[in-house]
Parts: sequence; C-alpha cells; structure tokens
Amino acid sequence: MGQEKKQTERKMWAAVYRGKGKISLEERKMPKLLKPTDAIINVTLTTICSSDIHILKGAVPKAREGVILGHEFVGKVIETGSQVKKFKPGDRVAVNVETFCGECEFCKEGHVNNCTDSEGGWALGCRIDGGQAEFVRIPYADQGLTKIPDTVTDEQALFTGDLLSTGYWAAQLGELKPADTVLVIGAGPAGICTMLAARLYSPYKIIAVDLDEERLELVKEQGLADVTFSARTQELEKKILEETGGYGADVVFEAAGSSDTFRLAYETARPNGIVCIIAMYEEDQVLPLPQMYGKNLIFKTGGVDACCCGEIMKLIEAGKLNAEFMITHRTTLSQIEGAYEIFGKKQDNILKWAIKV
Ligand SMILES: [Zn+2]
Ligand SMILES: [Zn+2]
Repeated sequence: MGQEKKQTERKMWAAVYRGKGKISLEERKMPKLLKPTDAIINVTLTTICSSDIHILKGAVPKAREGVILGHEFVGKVIETGSQVKKFKPGDRVAVNVETFCGECEFCKEGHVNNCTDSEGGWALGCRIDGGQAEFVRIPYADQGLTKIPDTVTDEQALFTGDLLSTGYWAAQLGELKPADTVLVIGAGPAGICTMLAARLYSPYKIIAVDLDEERLELVKEQGLADVTFSARTQELEKKILEETGGYGADVVFEAAGSSDTFRLAYETARPNGIVCIIAMYEEDQVLPLPQMYGKNLIFKTGGVDACCCGEIMKLIEAGKLNAEFMITHRTTLSQIEGAYEIFGKKQDNILKWAIKV
C-alpha cells in the first residue's frame, strides 16, 4: 500500500496542449490504470506528427485543451490491467495511434478508426493523454500495442503505429495491383510511408511531387520514386500525364493537403482510377463535378484504420519496410518545445524527430 501511494504521488514530465498556438512542458501526475483492459507504458522514444501541428493551429475540433500531446511513440509496459492478455510488464511495444475495442461493428470490419467506444478512434494525444510524456495509459492495450522483437530497435519501430500504418492503409485503400502507375503528391513523412507501402505491391512506376527538392532527392535516393516533379514545374499536370502514357495514374495518393494538390490529384488520375485523399485539410475543398462527369473517378478519404501493426512489425523485422531514414533530428523530451518550433516551421530540412524520453 505504501509503495502504491508513493507511485501515484510521483510526477512526470509531459508536453501539454494549452490552446491554440500553445504547448508547454509541465509536471503532471503519473497515469493510473482506469479499466482492466488498460496498460501503463513507460515511453522510451516519441516523435511529433504533423497532426500535432494541426492541433496547435486549432484545426482539430476534437482536440481537448490540457491534453498531453503525442500519438506516435514506443515504450515498455510497466503495468497491465487484469484483462490484458497479450502483454506483461517488461515487454517492449509500439503504440497504435488509434484506440479500438475490437468488438463493435466497425472494429469487426477492420474500420477501427470509427470504433464506437468513447475512447475509440484517434484519442491518444487528442482527446485523452498521449505519449509525449514519460508515462501514458493505453486503453484496450491488447488491441493498441504491438510487441517489438529484440532485433528491432526503438528507432526502427517508432513509426509503426501511425505513419507506417497510414502508408500501409493507404496502399490498401488504393487497391494497388502489380504494374500500377502510382502518383504520390507530397513527399513528406506520410507520402514517403505511402511510397514505402506501395513498393510492396511492385508498381510499374511511382511518380512523386513535392515543393521541396531535397525531399524529392531523398525519395529517389531511397528507391521509392522512379520519377519526381517539383510542384513548381510549369504545366505540371501535362508533364505528369506524359509520364503515364497520356492516360493518368491508376492510383493517386494526395498526401500534401492544399487546394492545389487536391486539384492536381483528380486532374492526373486516369479515368476510372482511384484517388485516395490521405492528407488532413485545414479547409473545405471543392470538386468541379460537372467538368468531371464521365471521368468516373473513385474518391476515397479518411483517417487511417491502424489495425495492421502486427504485419508492419513483421515487415520491419524482415528488413522489408524501413522508415528509419526519416529520422533526421534527435533530441530529448526536455527540449520538446524547441523541437515543435523546428518541426512546425519545417526548418533545417527536418523530416522527423526522434525524441528520447
Ligand atoms: Zn500522426
Ligand atoms: Zn470498436
């Protein structure tokens, strides 16, 4: 009892969302198990996602002021509720961006992003306390955690639950087939992970578009894109169409999130092709349906259904999915406010932080 009391009185450091434009590193109470399906994780490595920047901009209505940020991290299990069956203290784990019960109608279909549980969907670091902290409570731990094999480092596993899940889900959403011509608009972390996952399907060609020349160079260097275009290219749409034999891409992934890239996505898709919108927009977008009539495009949108982390971890372990090169910057939790500044302003050619806790 005495020890338990000591444990709950202990404080920890956490990055807290304090309303539009405000983040602060604060001392907070240690999280406790609230339900028998919960686990407590000691976070070992965390990162900042562009969704965190969306929260800071005030563009995520569901985000709660006072919440501990962070939904992309790995750690070690320190405590489990009585109903957690798959994990025990000491296990190294990657944490899923989404919380899901595994039992509701949507979960049974694999659409875990729409889990109907009150803590379901993207909750961590948005509606409930997340992992830019020393410790975090994970609801439905059996669904929300993935064991990290001994041969996989924290840095290799860091993107399993969010970015790699997004790329993996996007490739499934795009119904990719071997020999498809794929266009990925946006060569930031989400675009890169989409290319990584698309490569698993042996596409004929991956074309990447971005404003940032360094990012384009990187995706070429990494063997992810076969052809790259600067978003500033004159007559970009025409040039992309030329690259696709004049037909357009079989599948277009829009991972940039501006009106220009939204337009480019439906303009460069092949008739009857699939346009996957994986970017998170901050404004409404308009589709010119009269002009598009007859092109018969299939539009798919959404937030990741992150329920393939086991498969992703296997591919990482086997060396077939490697996103570690996205880590361009390293720091510690005590420096996270500065890290937000650099990431939010895309300074210093940053792709991703690895933040040691
Ligand atoms: Zn994210
Ligand atoms: Zn559910």
